[in-house]
Order: sequence, then structure tokens, then C-alpha cells
Amino acid sequence: MYILALDQGTTSSRAIIFDSLGNIIGVAQKEFPQIFPKPGWVEHNPWDIWNSQREVMFEAIEKAKIKPKEISAIGVTNQRETTIVWDKDTGQPIHNAIVWQCRRTADYCERLKKDGLSELVKEKTGLVIDAYFSSPKIKWILDNVPEARKKAEQGKLLFGTVDTWLIWNLTGRKVHATDYTNASRTMLFNIKNLDWDDELLEIMNIPRNMLPKPLPSSYFYGVCNIFEDAEIPITGIAGDQQAALFGQCGFEEGILKNTYGTGCFILLNTGKDIKYSSKGLITTVAYGIGDDVHYALEGSVFIAGAVIQWLRDNLGIIKNSSESEILAKMVEDNGGVYFVPAFVGLGAPYWDMFARGLIIGITRGVKREHIVRAALESIAYQTNDVIELMESETGIKIKELRVDGGASANNFLMQFQSDISNLKVVRPYITETTSLGAAFLAGLKVGIWKDLNEIKRIWREEKIFTPGMPEEKRRYYLAKWKEAVTKARGWEKE
Ligand code: ADP
Repeated sequence: MYILALDQGTTSSRAIIFDSLGNIIGVAQKEFPQIFPKPGWVEHNPWDIWNSQREVMFEAIEKAKIKPKEISAIGVTNQRETTIVWDKDTGQPIHNAIVWQCRRTADYCERLKKDGLSELVKEKTGLVIDAYFSSPKIKWILDNVPEARKKAEQGKLLFGTVDTWLIWNLTGRKVHATDYTNASRTMLFNIKNLDWDDELLEIMNIPRNMLPKPLPSSYFYGVCNIFEDAEIPITGIAGDQQAALFGQCGFEEGILKNTYGTGCFILLNTGKDIKYSSKGLITTVAYGIGDDVHYALEGSVFIAGAVIQWLRDNLGIIKNSSESEILAKMVEDNGGVYFVPAFVGLGAPYWDMFARGLIIGITRGVKREHIVRAALESIAYQTNDVIELMESETGIKIKELRVDGGASANNFLMQFQSDISNLKVVRPYITETTSLGAAFLAGLKVGIWKDLNEIKRIWREEKIFTPGMPEEKRRYYLAKWKEAVTKARGWEKE
């Protein structure tokens, strides 16, 4: 009994085969082109997405040395918010996919804010109005592609996030559906009643009939019929960050995960209650299984692992990212140096687009080891800022932090995170948590695992970091960090 997880990411498509113990037995990955038509605009060709995903499916199966008919289910996880609109009859996209990063609808979003819609949008969708989300992108396509609005009104066009596009093609164009987690990133989905919101559809002038059916994350969506000798049920879908939380067994209230990649994505399961943030955290659906719907608060750090890339590529003071761990451990402490990597401003809780990067506390004794250490520490401080906010805004007492992503391999960083946040940090044995989450959702539906408890039994910790920093020292470091942040703020303002 195997599960095929499809992980359609922003820069590459991956496929992973898991066995029923959650072991990886085959992996394939393929990058595809990024399209930048103008500064700040980002697109993908929907056929590049589909073809690369299709190729890696076959390749992973081959590498795993199994047959398609041995696969019990398919789970899908994907880059979120990216928007595709296609012709219902021909299956042909009418425009490139507009990627989540694309800023082309920023002005429209500003207008929505000026029109006073922020509260309404937040209450219904859990989101802060922003060009990231899908609905402004759909509207852009309808307004800018010739004939698009007319066709949409005639019911001839379909919209989908990437999960929907993949399922549509995997099922031979039979199924037009999405799951609640992906739907909750469109800025059209009412997270309370779990349906598209008519008022928002009207405000943004988007016809309801082009939207996919929103369904639970573990659900029988349809059958994949691209293999000659096997029909495989598709039974799991979740957006990438929600899938990672699920893959970390973040099933219950109070479980927190952080993915340390280029940036950080921090999600806290807040249980069955919807919790709102007043300081810019996003409320989102964590997962839906049958009637059981869990919500999450989400925060992000813009520059995390990217600060290590910067040390390597721009300063040239490290040769590779893992060297950062060795160097950081060569000094006793940060030598008084704090590094605020506000290269693109600062997110929650500061929300300062005018902040810029700063390295402060430099004296004659400061060596490159201190700079490297301060850079790693900045990843932990920024994460901690979000965690503190989550705690204070929800009143939920967080017990531990589960980690994944490229930079979670850094033991120095993980120990420092544990110390500074005074939290147990748990790194799982399988750090491919995004794919694992999709596999868990899919496997649950077809009975590979009976229930969530059975999944918990196969999930294993690889390493646990326990906090050991004296409280006084911790408070001192945190205070210095906050002071450094204050000095970095507002720099670009006239
Ligand atoms: P993404 O999915 O965002 O591309 P990954 O999860 O692949 O990111 O992680 C890559 C990021 O993690 C890079 O920014 C890199 O600098 C950082 N990174 C990778 N390994 C380490 C390490 N051992 N120590 C610190 N940072 C690391």
C-alpha cells in the first residue's frame, strides 16, 4: 500500500511515494520556468506546471520500483493563491497563471482598503487585503483578457488554484474542486460557513459559476486516470503550509510549526474556533476532515534562510549554508552584535515597509563568526516575535515548536530558537512534512490509517532541543533585539 504525494511548489514540482509507515521510497523533482513580464509581476505557464508535475509522478513511481496499481491514493499539496483561469470546453488556460508573489493588483487592493472593506474581508475570510490572494488576480484576468468577462458570465470559464488545475487534469477534466485550505486563500471564501461569499463575489465582480466546489481536505475528489493500468483515487488536498502543519501531526489546538526556508512560515493550530489577530496575522483553515474543521493563525518572516544566502553570495564570508553552523559555534556568544535583516521591510508584529537591514554593536573585537552568528540568531528572533504575538493574541499556551524546511537542519539555530523562545523544539525524522501532510490526508480517506491517533504513532522525532538559557540572559537578549529592531525601523521614510 503506497501513497503518491504531489507537491506543486513555486519553483519546482515534486512527487514522493510514501509507504504505510510514512517512509519515503521514491522522489522526483523538476524545476520549471518563472516568467517575469514586468518588474513585480510573476507568472507561470499552467502547462509547465501540469507537465512537470506529470513527469515527476511517473519518475517517482519508477524510482520507487512499484507499479501504479500498487498506489492506494493520491494526495496533492501546492503553492497557494496562484490563480489560473481556463476555458471549460477546451481546457485551455486563457492567461498564464498569476503567481502569489505577483504585485500587479496592489493598486486595486489599496482601493479596496480605502473603500473601508478591511474589516469585512477580515471577518469573512480571515485575511488582510493583499495582492497575494487569488480574487484580485481573477478580477484582473476578467478585466484584461479580451472577451473573458463575457465568457465567464456565460459560464464558459473556470477558475482554480493550482490544486484545482491539477485535479482537473488528473481526472481527465471531470472534476472541478478545491479544498477548504486552498479556498481560504482566495479572499472569496467565508471561513465560517465554508462556502464562497456572495457579498465578496459581488464587490469584486466575479461570477460564482466559475468557482470550484470547496470540499474537506480529506475527501474522495475523483479518480486519476492518467495511468494505463490503474485508476487511483485522489483523496487529499491542502495548501503547502497547511499540509506541512498536518504533516507535523499538528492536529490539535496549541500545536505550532515553523518552516525555515527562504522565509519562515509559522502556523498555530487554534482548534475549532476562529481566532482573529489585530496585528496582521492571518486566520486560515488548517484542515477539514468530514465536519471536523480546524483553524490556524499564520504569520511569516520575509527574510530567514535568505540572510544566510546573503552572507554567502553578497558578502562571501561563508562558502555554503551549513558552514554557518560551524562558525556560529566557534564563538561563545554574539559578541554584542545584532543583525536585523529587514531587507524588504518587517512583517508581524512591526509591519514596517520602511525598515531596512542593520548590523549593530560592532566593536574592534568583532569577527566574521559573530556576524554569522548574529545572522542565524536573527532568524530565531524574528520567529520568536511571531510566536509571542500568537500567544498574546490567542491566549493559547504553546507547548512546543515543530520545525522543518532547509534551515531547520542547523542545530545551532534550533538550539538558539529553543533557548530564546523557551520552548521545546522538535525536529521530525521526516522533514518532507508538506508532502507527508498531503499523504496523511489522502491515506486517511482510503483507510491506510484508521484515524489521527494511528498517524501519530508512525510520526517520529529525530531530535529534540530543550531550552537551557537562564531567564535573565534570555530577557536581556530579547530586549537588545527589540532595541536593534527599533533602530532599523522607518529608515526609508523621507
Ligand atoms: P525554500 O523552500 O524556501 O526554497 P528550503 O526549505 O529549501 O527553502 O531552505 C533553503 C533555505 O535555507 C536557504 O535560504 C538556505 O540559505 C537556508 N539553509 C539551508 N541549510 C541551512 C543551514 N544548514 N543553516 C542555515 N541555513 C540554511
